[in-house]
Amino acid sequence: MKRFQWAAVWLLLLPGSAMVHAQSLNYENQFARPLGEVLRQIESRFGIRLKYEIDTIGKMLPYADFRIRPYSVEETLTNVLSPFDYKATLSGKTYKLKPYEYPRRTVADGQKMIAYLRTLYHDGASFRKRAEELRPQVRRLLGIDELLQKRVEAKPILSKIRKMEGYSVQNFALQTLPGLYVCGSIYAPSKKGKHPLILCPNGHFADGRYNKEQQIRMATLARMGAVCVDYDLFGWGESILQVGEPAHRTSMAHVMQALNGLSILDYMLSAARKDIDATRTGVHGGSGGGSQVVLLTALDDRFTAAAPVVSLASHFDGGCPCESGMPIQLAGGGTCNPEILAMFAPKPLLVVSDGGDWTASVPTLEFPYLQTIYDYFGAKNQVSNVHLPGERHDFGPNKRQAVYDFFARVFALDKSKLDEAKVTVEPREALFSFGAKGELLPSNALKAEQVAAYFEKGRFRDMLSDIGLQKKAAEWVASLQLSQKDKEAYATTLVYNHLRAVRDWHNAHPYTTIPEGINPATGNALSKLDREMIADSAMPKEVHEKLMNGLRKLLTEAQVEAILDKYTVGKVDFTLRGYQAIVPDLTEKETAEILKNLRQAREIAIDYKSMKQISAIFEIYKTKCEQYFNNNGRNWRQLFKAYVDKRNAEKRKAKEAQNKK
Ligand code: ZN
Repeated sequence: MKRFQWAAVWLLLLPGSAMVHAQSLNYENQFARPLGEVLRQIESRFGIRLKYEIDTIGKMLPYADFRIRPYSVEETLTNVLSPFDYKATLSGKTYKLKPYEYPRRTVADGQKMIAYLRTLYHDGASFRKRAEELRPQVRRLLGIDELLQKRVEAKPILSKIRKMEGYSVQNFALQTLPGLYVCGSIYAPSKKGKHPLILCPNGHFADGRYNKEQQIRMATLARMGAVCVDYDLFGWGESILQVGEPAHRTSMAHVMQALNGLSILDYMLSAARKDIDATRTGVHGGSGGGSQVVLLTALDDRFTAAAPVVSLASHFDGGCPCESGMPIQLAGGGTCNPEILAMFAPKPLLVVSDGGDWTASVPTLEFPYLQTIYDYFGAKNQVSNVHLPGERHDFGPNKRQAVYDFFARVFALDKSKLDEAKVTVEPREALFSFGAKGELLPSNALKAEQVAAYFEKGRFRDMLSDIGLQKKAAEWVASLQLSQKDKEAYATTLVYNHLRAVRDWHNAHPYTTIPEGINPATGNALSKLDREMIADSAMPKEVHEKLMNGLRKLLTEAQVEAILDKYTVGKVDFTLRGYQAIVPDLTEKETAEILKNLRQAREIAIDYKSMKQISAIFEIYKTKCEQYFNNNGRNWRQLFKAYVDKRNAEKRKAKEAQNKK
């Protein structure tokens, strides 16, 4: 009894953490301690301050004390933080604790990456080979081609032209995907004739394309003789009306901004514009705009000159999802922006960098690498770097000057017109296409309230799929050429809702939800297709009824049939023609029976997702048709054999005739 009391007193005298050690740290529990406690201990032990941008609550660190290196705070922090994918970076006297950042690495990492890339090629031919591998992979990882397929061909909505001193400004809204618009402004020289084009994707500088410095740069280049186009970031400016602000912080921003750039390029180089000299097509932008420049040059070879500003680095891909939301840096087994940009060689390229951000490494790392690649093509003088060691991350006067000088040189612009003081800076609203409150949004435009949910959880793939179905529904109904717009809109909604319900049911009930087993009619094991069809056939009947009742109320029977034929790609007609060929003396009664069966097949098939399933439904009804023949005095097998023999004979004849020639 006495002994126990003494032991209790002794324990109370021990400092808290030592008590924990003594009581609970051992091999069996992996010497685990709460991360927060370990970090506090490191602070006092090494006399440092930690700033938390991470969450330590509930995190247990195994082998905690064994990770501490008495001789090195940095090694200690790395060892303690790495199990949680956290890192520490020294800023001043404080260590900032941050989560792992996949687009941001260290300059040392960049050096190793560039050194590695340099081992992959040694001349123009081997670099071209690498580029041929990279380019399609960048496209695939970005997902751009899928979007390009969904793009609508539309004329832009153009505002009145505002005439300024030596240039003019016109706003535009260009529809890219159905219901989605990109808005921007075209700054054009006052002088008539053909001018070079410069696309100017934006970065994240305050106020985007409405920013005073941005307007000054656009207008000055226009005064010097180039048609300059800038446009909103996805989820910035007027795009907020359509997708809301959170949309910008999604991976969709990455691919949408690329799509917007390419769509604007297509329009500006189309026959609709008489003022563009396509042989001089430039692209330039700062910060996040520079990331877009790199990407656009890789996606489209119509650009003839490029200038990324305060952006390019081998160790930073751009920290916004609009720059690194899609994993394009994984192309070719691992790449970085300088290599993607190097594919632009040997065309004129300017890289602007400064000493106050991640581009500080450009003169010693990224630029020499670009020079090597350009040298492969005998074009070392076509790549240049303006480095401003005393400057920070902005698009200030010296950076603008570098861009003016570059485009003046490569596009033969008139430098005597370089005078920023002559530019009229317009109020934000003047640059809007859709009015101060979005009151001019077209009727088909998506609105942020409708699509906000897609962006909350990064469900933009669903949005694309929905847009695809919407487009399909609209095309099918448009083929009916209904004269009443409201009727057309209602029919489109009915079809769209049905297509979506079929897709959603299919996705929510994969074939794996049906157990493996046998088909009781045949005794064969159920195939994947069988199981898929069982799952899909369980879709509630009201989905089908809603569509059919709605269409029948709205349309004539022939029009309803035309819609159903769209779902089933004209299989009723196609199959009937087959029967007519096989049974040349098909009677009216038989034709009616076949049509009855095929129409039934069609109406059932529309509730299935894939063409394979739709074909399988038609097979069931084709079997019924053939049984009908057999039960009514015909021999289907004979008829079919005769038909095949006849076709083969014809083919033989044709071949013989060919041989004779
Ligand atoms: Zn962004």
